[in-house]
Amino acid sequence: MPRAAKTTKTTKTTKTTKTAKVATATKAVKKVKAPKNAGGIEFNNFEPYKPKRGEKYMNEQQRAHFKTILLNWKSDLMQEVDRTVNHMKDEAANFPDPADRATQEEEFSLELRTRDRERKLIKKIDSTMELIDMDDYGYCEACGVDIGIKRLEARPTATQCIDCKTLAEIKEKQEMG
Ligand SMILES: [Zn+2]
Repeated sequence: MPRAAKTTKTTKTTKTTKTAKVATATKAVKKVKAPKNAGGIEFNNFEPYKPKRGEKYMNEQQRAHFKTILLNWKSDLMQEVDRTVNHMKDEAANFPDPADRATQEEEFSLELRTRDRERKLIKKIDSTMELIDMDDYGYCEACGVDIGIKRLEARPTATQCIDCKTLAEIKEKQEMG
């Protein structure tokens, strides 16, 4: 893909590239099924946590905070999955016109791919909530440092600190050529 190669040449930090990628993906989905909310993948209905001075990292309150975020996110995702399944059942009409049928198939396969992503995300959310229960949440799995509240609020399922994550992404890119 020559176009993709060109965009990777612009030296942005991996962090911004990633968010941009997610944003465009959501936008693309929104465009195709305009009346429906692309929801689910996004989660932003929470109050940012304000730690008190000297508060211990990942104390009970902080763990509860992230558990709430994860639970709400999960229930949004599950609703979204249900909605699509119902939508597809309702719409799965046999269009006599092959062009209509092709459009519908395209739309369905796009939706299925989105659902697949959401199911994977739900699994990831579940395993993240297990980490919270085991009091193992919020620490980088690669180097052990605190991942940090801000980063976890942006990415509640993060298992690595920003440095390790960035490094991993650079390595991944190099391996892909
Ligand atoms: Zn790390």
